[in-house]
Amino acid sequence: MSTIPTAMQGAILPGNSTTRLSEFLVPEPAHGEVLLRMKASTICGSDIRCIYHEHLGKGAEGYQGVIAGHEPCGQILKTGPGCRRFQAGDRVIVYHISGCGVCNDCRRGYMISCTSEKYRRAYGWQRDGGMAEYLLAEEKDLVRLPDELSYVDGAQVACGFGTVYEGLEKIGISGNDAVLITGLGPVGLATGALCRKLGANRIIGIDVVEERMRLALDLGLCDEVLKSGPENVADVRRLTGGHGTERAVDCSANAAARATAIRATRKWGRIVFLGEGGKVEFNPSEDMIHDQKTLYGSWVTSIWRMEELVERLVRWNLHPSDFVTHRFALDAVDKAYALMAGGRCGKVAVCFDEELAVAG
Ligand SMILES: [Zn+2]
Ligand SMILES: [Zn+2]
Repeated sequence: MSTIPTAMQGAILPGNSTTRLSEFLVPEPAHGEVLLRMKASTICGSDIRCIYHEHLGKGAEGYQGVIAGHEPCGQILKTGPGCRRFQAGDRVIVYHISGCGVCNDCRRGYMISCTSEKYRRAYGWQRDGGMAEYLLAEEKDLVRLPDELSYVDGAQVACGFGTVYEGLEKIGISGNDAVLITGLGPVGLATGALCRKLGANRIIGIDVVEERMRLALDLGLCDEVLKSGPENVADVRRLTGGHGTERAVDCSANAAARATAIRATRKWGRIVFLGEGGKVEFNPSEDMIHDQKTLYGSWVTSIWRMEELVERLVRWNLHPSDFVTHRFALDAVDKAYALMAGGRCGKVAVCFDEELAVAG
């Protein structure tokens, strides 16, 4: 393997809808840590919502001026002392929150919910993330990337696909189910893709952006796509024999769309909210209680479920990279964030080496 330079380029997000590329020292892996050569780093809606425009996040979403990017995937160049499983040359996905490892949430594998104020640090938020040539990660945060999957496939498992898979496992999806997806951004598209593989009978999507609606149909991820509007509940009922869908997944965080997700779900149905932020208003008796419905909230996933998802992606021959519409080199990172912020795209990735050579 080629020698590792001492300095690298990395991108930070100053919070005024710009990016700044700076030079950083290439870190040296300490005990239990590895140094990755970055291969793919995808942009998430939460990067735009909480960091890019303005640093709005608090606590777990508080951005501390580090190298951005919480969906990293790369190859191990060097391991620090005490690594137990992974070695140089391994292809890995980084679970994007490093937890203390010993609180109840970490022990369940949900480092996203780690309760340690001192040790819970998310990559790209409170510790350096994937928008750089190299990344320092903890071995315990790594998931092996199978040979059948590309680094761009892996980058999307870290947050988007993992989050969706968790939500779908909570509500359960099978061939019995028609599914409504509100919001057809990258998370909504991933929902359509996973629902297909889980055998959903019929998939209905709702969005406002034409590009996204068309993408969902062109990629075969939805059977029907509705333009967001006041007739949506009636339309969904009409498409489902007057009943509504058995399952609904909100990926929009929009108040009206969330209410639609609840109301367009049939009796005994299950709804999961994945979209972050915002509000919702509904009538508990009429919309939920009298129809015996269950509403779930779901935040990211656990590291064991990420491993399970990676195995299933191979089994299903499902490649999240198919939903990447644009690839950029690190020195064009400003264009990557600007495009994602505009929303007229699928998933946007910053790529390196062989992943940059792939036509995007
Ligand atoms: Zn994310
Ligand atoms: Zn913890």
